[in-house]
Amino acid sequence: MISSPLQTLQPLMADSNSETLIDGNHLIALSLSRAGLECMFGVVGIPVTSLATRSVALGIRFIAFHNEQSAGYAASAYGYLTGRPGILLTVSGPGCVHGLAGLSNAAVNTWPMIMISGSCDQKDFGKGDFQELDQMAAVKPFAKFAVKAKDISEIPNSVFEAVRFAVSGRPGGCYLDVPTDVLHQTICESDADRLVEAASKEEETLEKTLGKPLETLEIEKAVSLLREAKRPLIVFGKGAAFARAEDELRKLIEGTGIPFLPTPMGKGLLPDSHELAATAARSLAIGRCDVAVVVGARLNWLLHFGDQPKWSKDVKFILVDISKEEIELRKPYIGLVGDARRVLGLINKEVKDNPFCFGKSHPWVEAIAKKAKENVGRMEVQLGKEVVPFNFLTPMKIIRDAILVEGSPSPILVSEGANTMDVGRAVLVQTEPRTRLDAGTWGTMGVGLGYCIAAAVASPGRLVVAVEGDSGFGFSAMEVETLVRYQLPVVVIVFNNGGVYGGDRRNPEEITGPYKEDPAPTSFVPGAAYHTLIEAFGGKGYLVGTPQELKSALAESFSARKPAVINVTIDPYAGAESGRMQHKN
Ligand code: ADP
Repeated sequence: MISSPLQTLQPLMADSNSETLIDGNHLIALSLSRAGLECMFGVVGIPVTSLATRSVALGIRFIAFHNEQSAGYAASAYGYLTGRPGILLTVSGPGCVHGLAGLSNAAVNTWPMIMISGSCDQKDFGKGDFQELDQMAAVKPFAKFAVKAKDISEIPNSVFEAVRFAVSGRPGGCYLDVPTDVLHQTICESDADRLVEAASKEEETLEKTLGKPLETLEIEKAVSLLREAKRPLIVFGKGAAFARAEDELRKLIEGTGIPFLPTPMGKGLLPDSHELAATAARSLAIGRCDVAVVVGARLNWLLHFGDQPKWSKDVKFILVDISKEEIELRKPYIGLVGDARRVLGLINKEVKDNPFCFGKSHPWVEAIAKKAKENVGRMEVQLGKEVVPFNFLTPMKIIRDAILVEGSPSPILVSEGANTMDVGRAVLVQTEPRTRLDAGTWGTMGVGLGYCIAAAVASPGRLVVAVEGDSGFGFSAMEVETLVRYQLPVVVIVFNNGGVYGGDRRNPEEITGPYKEDPAPTSFVPGAAYHTLIEAFGGKGYLVGTPQELKSALAESFSARKPAVINVTIDPYAGAESGRMQHKN
């Protein structure tokens, strides 16, 4: 039986024995809901419209986007923020291809999500059907687990397996392919219930078997290395944030007096203002430490691969990671495979049995504190200057102060861009865990609006503030309509310097050839009125160019807690590509 995608939400009745029948759309929604998934992001269309409406009818929130790319970014960030996979729903073919952005983002950031795509009728595959694509092959490089439900009876198991793979071990993105004919197949409601019940039981048993106990010996070895260290450091990243390891981290850091360094998204697990924070003395901390405990953070480009000259030649790494493969890849001095919160709990227990503390007057702790104080002082002098037309620092300080005034719960900050993100990372202060979402491991531009929507949905009522470059904003600017439609408390601040890096920065000898009159590859329309975009949908827009205008726009929009875009005019020649990346461009 082929039913219209928009057919009634009532279950179907079988003609012969009046046993209630449900279709594939309904069964997927039922399985997702029984698996405890609460939110789906996506774009509807053939053949998945009914799946979205069925999901809503079963209590799953569906956030309808304009583009699967943004919806996918939202699903991945939702997984990070809540610990449960965010779901991305896409149509077949091009919808699936757009969704790969989200799936790959989940893979590379190690966040749990499930992408569900409709696909063409199985009997028509290979004949050039509408939006036909070998979707299983397309998702392969990015999916931790991919499954096609070839028959309606396979749906419950496929859903539960995808959930299990997404959250177990190192989290990641999973894929569920549902052909049109399977979505339209029907099954008795009682059989469906039985299948869902069986699939959910299987998850429970598998979850119990996860994780192998750590050897006490390894923990003792790690703690004794720390105890003997002359210049220890604790580094933590978004894996520790995902593990909700903040309490154990605080216990370890404050108990032992060891300075700490968060990665960009680790910021906030302990407040940036903590007296043991080495953020403002980063080069000294990583350049001189002799033992570094690295928790839920890869020794990748963000941490200079753990190599010289940024790190000292003799540094001994103690890596804590849920992924055995990650530890095998980096070959640390000591590798502790396991959930960050659990491993830190064991370390804390070992420290408690045989306590030690470096103390404020320890030369290393003192050196870090002194350097951090000097650097903060220097930065504050720069921030104290009111520069108009705006550079990056002046508006960033005003935004920092406005965010701090909000107190607790602090707003969730979303940040992307080149200069905007770099300067923001240094100036904006994180005081609570999981309150920073940025371009992440891939340095992905275009994540901003999707992340804002995910954050607002994951933490209802909490203010979300995005600080974005105009280029980053442009990737998904149409989603401001989504903000307005769902009335999400999101304030998007666009640093508008007229392009990627801003302005035309070519040397005169580069401006040549038949297209020399074209705008520079880095330039956008100068003075673009981004604030009017949101006004087109009934949101609030502000155009600001002075400190007073910015302060009043922030005060008004933060207290309104309604969708708003603040278009901040920045000098197009302020700033440059991030220092450490410049040589690559
Ligand atoms: P950052 O960008 O903050 O440096 P990365 O994304 O590079 O962080 O690293 C995160 C690491 O955290 C990954 O290697 C991942 O395997 C690991 N991880 C994920 N979940 C957990 C967990 N629950 N406990 C420990 N490590 C985890």
